[in-house]
Amino acid sequence: MPFKTLRLIEPLLRAVHAEGYTLPTAIQQQAIPHVLEGRDLLGSAQTGTGKTAAFALPILQRLHTAGGAKAEKLAEGSGPKAHTGHAAPAGGHHRQAGHGPRVERGGGHEGARRPIRALILTPTRELAAQIGESFGVYGRHLHLRHTVIYGGVGQGPQAAALRRGVDILVATPGRLLDLLNQRLLTLRDVEIFVLDEADRMLDMGFIHDIRKVIGQIPAQRQTLLFSATMPKEIRAMANQVLTHPVQVSVPAESPAADTVAQALYFIEPARKLELLEHLLEEPGVTRALVFTRTKRGADRVVHRLVHAGVEAEAIHSDKSQNARQKALENFKRNRTRVLVASDIAARGLDVDNISHVINYDMPGDAETYVHRIGRTGRAGAQGKAISLCTREEQGELRQVEKLLGRRITVLNHKLAPAPAAAKPAPKHQAHGHAPARAAAHSTTYSSHSAPRATGAHAKAAPKEQEKKTGQAAHGGHSGGGQKSPFWRGKRRGGRPSSRPHRKH
Ligand code: AMP
Repeated sequence: MPFKTLRLIEPLLRAVHAEGYTLPTAIQQQAIPHVLEGRDLLGSAQTGTGKTAAFALPILQRLHTAGGAKAEKLAEGSGPKAHTGHAAPAGGHHRQAGHGPRVERGGGHEGARRPIRALILTPTRELAAQIGESFGVYGRHLHLRHTVIYGGVGQGPQAAALRRGVDILVATPGRLLDLLNQRLLTLRDVEIFVLDEADRMLDMGFIHDIRKVIGQIPAQRQTLLFSATMPKEIRAMANQVLTHPVQVSVPAESPAADTVAQALYFIEPARKLELLEHLLEEPGVTRALVFTRTKRGADRVVHRLVHAGVEAEAIHSDKSQNARQKALENFKRNRTRVLVASDIAARGLDVDNISHVINYDMPGDAETYVHRIGRTGRAGAQGKAISLCTREEQGELRQVEKLLGRRITVLNHKLAPAPAAAKPAPKHQAHGHAPARAAAHSTTYSSHSAPRATGAHAKAAPKEQEKKTGQAAHGGHSGGGQKSPFWRGKRRGGRPSSRPHRKH
């Protein structure tokens, strides 16, 4: 479902496309139409799902269409175009979050003429800044203004921004109340109120502040409440603040998605391409999404694969919208078997039946790993996620395993030994990786700290052999002696065993 079917206005569509979003995420698909209609909304979704655009886009549209004439008028005589702006509270200067020329209006008391019409309350300053930035990006072609206020920094620039007047205010509760108490702003004109990350706000003890803020907003308003979890306190709050809400829910991407079998290979950087090519030769790889960390990396991988006769295309932000769309279409229609993507380009990518996600490069953070592997194993289908991990990437691997609460199965590849590895390597044989990992996970991996000689393995293992690292050592899934238990044995016996390092 493309963005335009959500009935978003052209300036927003343009902004969204410029961001490289090809399709709305699930929460955007579900929420935007209702918010555009003015309905209250109870959204069960967490950061990372595209939640910000799910509320920011329809808010911008509603404010623009309802107050378009007003905003245009305010912008008149102020330069070529008025933009949403962002008061950088810490920097002491007014910063333009969007692109293009910024319109500063003097006079100081415009705030009175330009009331705050949307308030977004969020628990942390990072989230506030992020949301503010999103309003700047999505609203860059509209004549609406926003600012962000949060504590821990001087209030001068924030107060100045409020005096100049904003349509949209993004705030953390404490600083907002502080400025309200000083009568530096009023919330009596708020038409749309967003309570973001409500569960986290409660956890952080903001309940009283929230009540006070709500007490200052008109009862006649549109309210959107987002929460990653829905404990009974949040439900109670929702009952109080929402009127006949539409409920939308996007399940958190489970770090331990049962339908995705995960494995990894330790490999030298110089041999990644070779290994990838080899992995893609497996007959089971019917539709593979390969992630690289950089755009250049994606192009390099595609170049090599195409050279080897594999139908592959890349999508990343250096490609035109048309080229990206075309690559995606080809992938969906099975004209290309392999799509090589950067993380940003693949956000929101929703293609059925991706058989394999391959992390050609380990992602920079663990959440991204979860997001990547969530592209496969969808709608109950089985999926496989394979990571190619170099010695340098073991830090990232550790983060991923920490988040997953389990170790990822290590497989040995059957590439011919690299010339360098064939030489005696007294300290780190087996690509020099196994010992490093053993050191990193000394308890669980002790049984595998013995060097794995690449050559010996390559000869002794005509097929990939699972190293049943942590799992096997701790009585977990054994694979029942099948050749490739990672692929086949695991699913039958239910969940692969896991051994949490730590509770999260
Ligand atoms: P959020 O959950 O709002 O924090 O969004 C997570 C990330 O997804 C942000 O980096 C957004 O820029 C990105 N994003 C949001 N919507 C889309 C979309 N439809 N397609 C691709 N990326 C998106």
